[in-house]
Amino acid sequence: MKIIADLHTHTISSGHAYSTVMENARAAADRGIEMIAMTDHGPAMPGGPHNYHFGNQRVIPDELFGVRILKGVEANVIDRDGNLDLPVERLAALDIVLAGLHSVCTPNGSVAENTEMMINGIKNPWVDVIVHPGNPEFLINAEAVVQAAVQYDVAVELNNSSLKVSRAGSRPYCEKILSLCKQYGAKIMVGTDSHFAFAIGDFTEAMVLLEKYDISPNAVVNTSITAIQNHLQRRSNRRSKG
Ligand SMILES: [Zn+2]
Ligand SMILES: [Zn+2]
Repeated sequence: MKIIADLHTHTISSGHAYSTVMENARAAADRGIEMIAMTDHGPAMPGGPHNYHFGNQRVIPDELFGVRILKGVEANVIDRDGNLDLPVERLAALDIVLAGLHSVCTPNGSVAENTEMMINGIKNPWVDVIVHPGNPEFLINAEAVVQAAVQYDVAVELNNSSLKVSRAGSRPYCEKILSLCKQYGAKIMVGTDSHFAFAIGDFTEAMVLLEKYDISPNAVVNTSITAIQNHLQRRSNRRSKG
């Protein structure tokens, strides 16, 4: 299996990441990655970009060093209703929307409450991928979340960083979610969650699990540009580039 796109990356705009768009694109090109998505944190993240950051991403070329650049966000789920920290008009104008639960932005609760909150995020019509659902800070009913992801055709992220440097203790939850994705036929998106250019396109830890659980390349969205385009265009025709 070859992952050809890194759809979860951060730049200095996130406030706690340390590379520029140019550096990330260059790193992607050096690794043979064909596409990256700029997915800086939503405005609710302390030190994160203002809403205007997301409106002005159009000034960035759609290709740098031969790498296609998607303009997106890693939005924060900010309440139990699954609302995100960008207005709908903004989300609708982006190429890709990731959504995730983050401890400083998202209310934590019981397993039932966290599950409902994540599912409400999945139900948001602009959300393409639910990120790092294996975060042990937000315990969920993984089976219910994966089933909702299938029902609403949202991809489930296997986050390389969760297996390496972030969200300690994620691994058993990530493994469980991956096996459930296989069982229920959920789409999987492998992301690096890069906060420094050297991490762009490094899927090493995730690949080990994809092999361990015998995941088919067909189940992973970012194994082909066509599969990515099909996933991003599934609900509207607003996204035509890729
Ligand atoms: Zn971050
Ligand atoms: Zn995140």
